[in-house]
Amino acid sequence: MERGLAVFLCAVAAFVFAACGARPAANAATEDWRDRATHELGEAAFGHAAAFVALGPKRVGTDEIRRAAEWIRSVLLDNGIRAEIDGFSDATPAGEMAFSNVAATIPAAGRPRGKKPPIVILGAHYDTKSGIENFVGANDSASGVGALLALAPVLAEAGLPFETRLLFFDGEESLRYYAANDGLHGSRHAAAALSAEEAGRVVAMILLDMVGDRDLRVDLERKTDKGLARRILRAAEKEGVREHFAVARGDFGLIDDHVPFRARGIPCADLCDFEYGEGRNAFWHTAEDTLDKISAASLGAVLKAVERVLYDLAKETP
Ligand SMILES: [Zn+2]
Repeated sequence: MERGLAVFLCAVAAFVFAACGARPAANAATEDWRDRATHELGEAAFGHAAAFVALGPKRVGTDEIRRAAEWIRSVLLDNGIRAEIDGFSDATPAGEMAFSNVAATIPAAGRPRGKKPPIVILGAHYDTKSGIENFVGANDSASGVGALLALAPVLAEAGLPFETRLLFFDGEESLRYYAANDGLHGSRHAAAALSAEEAGRVVAMILLDMVGDRDLRVDLERKTDKGLARRILRAAEKEGVREHFAVARGDFGLIDDHVPFRARGIPCADLCDFEYGEGRNAFWHTAEDTLDKISAASLGAVLKAVERVLYDLAKETP
């Protein structure tokens, strides 16, 4: 992920989901899963992140990253969630390379017959940056992976009225610098694979990247879908974790895995704390990005907000 004054082809998101068809449903199942979700999600996420770090680096195009993809799939399977490894190849500055996304779909529950459900996409990249000595990526990328893995079994039990797709992206990091053939390989592949009909059903794409910083502050970039940003801030408020969220000052854009989805007109939010280390970004892409710099409390704060957003969406899904 990278921050810059990039100009994006930002499709205007026709996000009317919140405005129309919203109705408060006295949905007992919806209430139940939140009650059950008083578990220690942050602890679970940290545990997964620690295990993921222990696997070693996940540099693109290597055996190690293929093993990491299998590991993610096996953790999901252990929780009763079927996941697929979606292999593909893509051009890079180092030539054509093989990549593998890991994708799991939690089906919608209790849908009216013949009516296709809305879709929510939750994403995180799992590759680690190449070319940095002793880089393990505790925050970038294990925090996002750990968070999604902790959330997955909760969502599978929740009986949500929308389809939830969990996407673990390969090739987010660039080999040199972000370009059409460098970085965001997995997310570009996954976004392109959505049919127009599917893309139209995606009501939210939430990306989790660098969400474990002990000193957590998720800055929502101004390009964040407005409705989704409001939801996230409101959710954080309700969950008592609002101090960890802010709307970023300045009109910068994050180059991250949400960008290809936004280009498809999908409402996106990148939950990313891009001040990792002493108010600057001192630990980012350095050997300092280690487990002791992230915490279960921070992961838990982000997950509480995400859970609440999903809960609110569930209540409003007709
Ligand atoms: Zn990175």
